[in-house]
Amino acid sequence: MIKNVDDYFKSPILKFPIKSDIGLTIPQLHVKCYKCRGKNVSIRANIYERKRCIELIGGSACPKCKMITPFKYRLYTDRRQMLNITGRWITVNPIKKPLRIRILDFLKKIFYII
Ligand SMILES: [Zn+2]
Repeated sequence: MIKNVDDYFKSPILKFPIKSDIGLTIPQLHVKCYKCRGKNVSIRANIYERKRCIELIGGSACPKCKMITPFKYRLYTDRRQMLNITGRWITVNPIKKPLRIRILDFLKKIFYII
């Protein structure tokens, strides 16, 4: 976890989408400012490839209140997303499959029924 401003500036600026070796893609990530809930934050984080997830450990800096919100984020191979801001992990909405894949899934379902 980022503990101070130096840690934050030592972490790389993230460039989205983030693609991992285990086939996961993080299209975008929003970590709201913990103080003002503002969304206009710049995120820096280190990327760690785990066995079944990608983990980002970093911080989001708020230009308004000059505060850094430390966070950990994980995207699992089953598309589950977890975010840890206050020391507790919470589940965020799973990343939707791309439209092309969703259409294919839908067609497969129809053909199985017919
Ligand atoms: Zn703020």
